[in-house]
Amino acid sequence: MRIIKRVGMRSGIAIAAIALILSAALVWQLSKARCMQLVGEVTCRVETEEKLVALTFDDGPTPEGVDAVLAELEPRGITATFFLIGSRMEKFPGQAERLIAAGHELGNHTYSHQRNLGRSQEFYANEIAKTRVLLQAAGSDTKLFRPPFGKRLIGLPLEVERAGYRTIMWDVEDQPEKFTQASAFAQDILARVRPGSIILIHPMYRHNQVARDALPIVLDGLRSQGYAVVTVSELLKRAGG
Ligand SMILES: [Zn+2]
Repeated sequence: MRIIKRVGMRSGIAIAAIALILSAALVWQLSKARCMQLVGEVTCRVETEEKLVALTFDDGPTPEGVDAVLAELEPRGITATFFLIGSRMEKFPGQAERLIAAGHELGNHTYSHQRNLGRSQEFYANEIAKTRVLLQAAGSDTKLFRPPFGKRLIGLPLEVERAGYRTIMWDVEDQPEKFTQASAFAQDILARVRPGSIILIHPMYRHNQVARDALPIVLDGLRSQGYAVVTVSELLKRAGG
């Protein structure tokens, strides 16, 4: 009797431990899910038959990154959406203004680019509001928000919604850890694009050279596949969103 009881207790503990591990894994998966979240609206691509994609650039701005990207977008007449970090806007004044002057769209990518999990509501609200002030000072009244690392659960989305932003994720992201050659890096993106895709590329920092080298290949590849490239707002509008 005693043995059975002990085994029963042990397996109970084991089941509880497994359940805890599984739910922790589930929460972790949910925190980085691209196309669903528990609170508020999230968009990772739009439904359309049209060969239309949105191009988004995350992080920075840095002068080198802005130089490199504008040099490829401008001659092709392409406008894109840049999700900027507030602290980087402060460090490199004038870069957000350059992007706006060139006709591009900006988005809020928080002030300090941290993983926004397990923090206070006040922390999330500040991350959003401080960047909003900087974006507005640069001349952008954007309603688009992207969480750093795509990470969010409940607290951040609540503040995003309260601040009147819409969360924009992506369905095709660059994979610099897998592809270190510009052509392979670009082909990987081109192979995954479909109508309504939102593409994410990180071109801003020194270690992002492969992304900057791949950008013209991506842009020309999209054109030869028949895709028009637009901003996120334009994609949402064209898809009735
Ligand atoms: Zn980022």
